[in-house]
Amino acid sequence: RFITFEGGEGVGKSTQVRRLLARLNRAGIDAVRTREPGGTPKAEAIRSFILQGRSESWGAGAEAVLFASARLDHVNELIAPNLAAGRWVLCDRFHDSTRAYQGLTGGVDDKLIGALEELALNGYTPDLTIVLDMDPDVAFRRVETRAVEDGLAVTGDRFEKEDLVWHRRLRENFLAIARDNPERCVVISADQPESALEEAIWQIVSTRFA
Ligand code: C5P
Repeated sequence: RFITFEGGEGVGKSTQVRRLLARLNRAGIDAVRTREPGGTPKAEAIRSFILQGRSESWGAGAEAVLFASARLDHVNELIAPNLAAGRWVLCDRFHDSTRAYQGLTGGVDDKLIGALEELALNGYTPDLTIVLDMDPDVAFRRVETRAVEDGLAVTGDRFEKEDLVWHRRLRENFLAIARDNPERCVVISADQPESALEEAIWQIVSTRFA
């Protein structure tokens, strides 16, 4: 099984990926967790390059190609081999993020986004995508709290510094992607306690893959 988690900034994706992994393991299911951009050494190098802002002036199209390049390596080197070995793969962000950020928000042509998806996914479309949905006002405060807890002077990377209007549009984009892919995507409100959200996700996963 291949499960991806999507959503805007500060919605709590990585926490929930960790919690789902622990629950699967307790249920005796062999699973791995990974993230995008990143997941393999080459893809992590591309992640640092982008998040440090080194491709910022290149435009969203070139960045979409960079994300796809990282994804291609991630699929070939980590996702496909683990699935082939019978492990479940849980991924924090995947191709829907490229569609939401570089496509719908960044204005990259749908044809290019579609072509990159076909190339990078190589047939590995997720079996289930959990879209964590939250009002960006609330999510923003979470990102700030996290930055303070991590001892950071500024909040997060370059994408986390965008304004609220941008984040609201991003939220709508993830919801639109979920509407367009109703068999694969499930939207859950992330504005609830972590353990309640964990339980809601577990219900979806255990029902779907019973
Ligand atoms: O998952 P995380 O929030 O750590 O993602 C790292 C950053 O990369 C995020 O700030 C996100 O906005 C950005 N990103 C992006 N386009 C993607 C995937 C991630 O701009 N396709």
